[in-house]
Amino acid sequence: MHTLFEPRLVNDAFGDPGLYVDFRDERRALLFDLGDIAALAPRNLMRLSHVFVTHTHMDHFSGFDHLLRVVLGRKDAVVLFGGPDFVAQVEHKLRAYTWNVVHRYEVDLVIEANEIDARGRGQRARFSSRARFAREPLGPFEPTEDVLYEETTFRVRGRFVDHDIPCLAFALEEKAHVNVDKDRLVRAGFGTGAWLRDLKHAVLTSAPGATPIAMRWQDRNGDHATTQTVDELRPLILDVVPGRRIGYVTDLRYTEQNVDTLTQLLTGVDVLYIESVFLEVDAAHGARKNHLTAHQAGTIARRIGAKAVVPFHFSPRYEGRPAELLAEVRAAWSGS
Ligand SMILES: [Zn+2]
Ligand SMILES: [Zn+2]
Repeated sequence: MHTLFEPRLVNDAFGDPGLYVDFRDERRALLFDLGDIAALAPRNLMRLSHVFVTHTHMDHFSGFDHLLRVVLGRKDAVVLFGGPDFVAQVEHKLRAYTWNVVHRYEVDLVIEANEIDARGRGQRARFSSRARFAREPLGPFEPTEDVLYEETTFRVRGRFVDHDIPCLAFALEEKAHVNVDKDRLVRAGFGTGAWLRDLKHAVLTSAPGATPIAMRWQDRNGDHATTQTVDELRPLILDVVPGRRIGYVTDLRYTEQNVDTLTQLLTGVDVLYIESVFLEVDAAHGARKNHLTAHQAGTIARRIGAKAVVPFHFSPRYEGRPAELLAEVRAAWSGS
């Protein structure tokens, strides 16, 4: 089945947390968390349009420098999202370097930083290489509900969980998913062509039903052209199914309030990426460190009805024993 995006963890489960989400048809990608990203090739980093940072502990943010090093002088824009104080933290990172020639670079890099405070209010600023990365405030913004960012085909939602500090948990949601039924297409007497993309786009953007679609295709009888409306074509050849939803949850305590927050954000999610830092035998240590055990992670996955679960952010104390953490997550998730 064709899907809009393809998520994959940046590192193995013992490495720094991070989820790279490739948009296959668009030569662009999203990244959740910005820790050690050396495993991502420069061409992968060049595709990044938006980066969402859960919180700024080093294992989630130290990769900022690496990203900047790769894209500076080559890429024109990166948009970052983070929690309280994020704009100032991005500014401090940029001010740690000397920028006496960067304003002459041919490609102007603009870093836009968006921060959400603990009350859910936003503020943003831009940092341009033309202006030697001096902070230019862009003013406040109000996220609608918990939607932090939205495009025609997908949205990113975020809510704070408690990790002793506020830490963002994210949902990436494909808005709708359109499949073309090739058999029905042929039975209706049509052939495939670029018009299918126009039709899908019209459906995904909720265009009016009377919108005309200019259809052209070729077969062994030659060229064909006709026009039909979205409403005529949709039931004939398309199946519109709910979009795929991905959860990215890392660095939190196991509390009822956190479970409530994740329930609001991620009920019935298709794939849940969730930290599973400690084994349940070390639960007291996990609580002191404000992290989940594998059993707690699996329990959350079960309680929110996740259809699949991918654990990560394993503590190095279990190096060589990932199977034990995996088994504990799965047992709690499946309720066995
Ligand atoms: Zn962490
Ligand atoms: Zn942390």
